[in-house]
Amino acid sequence: MGPPFRYKNDEVCMLRSLSLLGLALAAVASVLMLSPARAAAPAPNVILILVDAMRADKLGPYGYTARATTPNLSRFASRGVVFENTISQAGWTVPSVASLFTGVDPQAHRVLRYQQTSRVEMDALSLGHQTIAEQFKNAGYSTAAIMKSIVVDSGRGFSQGFDTFNVINPKQNQADGDSGRELTDAAVAWLEQQKTAGKPFFGYLHYMDTHSPYKAPEPYYSKYRAPGYAGPVSGAHMQIENDYKKPGVVPAAADIQQALALYDSEVEYWDAQFGRLMQVLVSTGLDANTIVVVTADHGEAFWEHGTNVFHEHLYQENIHIPFIVKAPGVKPGRLSHWTQSIDIAPTLADLAGVPKGAHWQGRSQAAVLKGTGPATVLPVYAEYSERRTIIEPSGMKLLLGDPSGPMLFDLKKDPGEKTNLAAAQPDVVNRLKGLLEVRSSEGKALAASFPMEEKNEMSPEQVQQLCALGYLSGAVCEGK
Ligand SMILES: [Zn+2]
Repeated sequence: MGPPFRYKNDEVCMLRSLSLLGLALAAVASVLMLSPARAAAPAPNVILILVDAMRADKLGPYGYTARATTPNLSRFASRGVVFENTISQAGWTVPSVASLFTGVDPQAHRVLRYQQTSRVEMDALSLGHQTIAEQFKNAGYSTAAIMKSIVVDSGRGFSQGFDTFNVINPKQNQADGDSGRELTDAAVAWLEQQKTAGKPFFGYLHYMDTHSPYKAPEPYYSKYRAPGYAGPVSGAHMQIENDYKKPGVVPAAADIQQALALYDSEVEYWDAQFGRLMQVLVSTGLDANTIVVVTADHGEAFWEHGTNVFHEHLYQENIHIPFIVKAPGVKPGRLSHWTQSIDIAPTLADLAGVPKGAHWQGRSQAAVLKGTGPATVLPVYAEYSERRTIIEPSGMKLLLGDPSGPMLFDLKKDPGEKTNLAAAQPDVVNRLKGLLEVRSSEGKALAASFPMEEKNEMSPEQVQQLCALGYLSGAVCEGK
């Protein structure tokens, strides 16, 4: 067993050397001060940033080198800890964010899907949960959600614990145009208020830039498009949907490259906004005592397994998400054990000294971050509709619910999930099925703790947005 932290680049090593130098100087200073007064450290602030559909392997801190789209995120990551192997609990936004907020699996919170008949209804989050925002609010924090997603909305229980729940320009297409700038402007204004508010804060920011449509503002939109490309891919969600979500339709390589180029442009546009936010943290003097986490609700597929845009599969391109933490007292580094979205709430609570929710299933990563304990090595789980997946610490991954039957992949040898080992290794399939059963039983037992809320009818604006984002189609979208 090696040390829990693996330093991978010179920059991190240099930071480590500088921090050791800083520690040495601090030690000298404390000796020179004969009776140092040690005031209690103020409670740290928290900013939890979720970027919708931002898959990990398209980011610099996760080894993406084809385009340098994340200079600000990479700089941030060099000051924090990169969890290399984190998966979201679900393949799409609503159940995934519900898990992030409540610390429990989708089968425990049961906020899973909308029903589309003559009207559109969506599952609501039970008010019986102890959400991460409630835990921070009860501990004396000022709490705010600043959102560019309207499918995670206050009318369905998601605003539990937030003093402010600000969905910005909900009538616009939330993933289009200058969405990230608008959200960052609102976040900056809120941070300026917090500077003199006299209490610590917990902020949740939900960006939509990397969700389709891929229409970043210029100069980003045109930056990576292939010169002379004459195919149909423009970044418009419905165009990709209409042209390619048909059985047997396989896009040309140039079309896939075009979609990836436009996605990378969105990543770079978001990164610029993230950089602006990080600069404001420094200029307001808040940086040193603020924990910042960057994550996503799910990834995005570019036909690696025959599909794109929609997140109904549980292959790694859809569930491998970033999880990067910068926190006071946490040394930069990288951690490679498996973690999951529901670990984020208990980790933040422990780092800030705030009580965790009684039902939370996630495991706190605070001890390994602070170097006071080992990594907790356990299986991780995700679901989408009838599909279920579990990954054991060895990297063996079982996928159930596909019409073709069980699938087993060895992620260490086959990270692209190309070779199904289920027929060759039935004993491993059975072992992982057993783990999946244990997890399912745990989730189902927990579900009884939370009274089911009534489904809520979506507003006309929400239906319009769901149509524009491609979640809904057919008659309900016509004439909108
Ligand atoms: Zn999403």
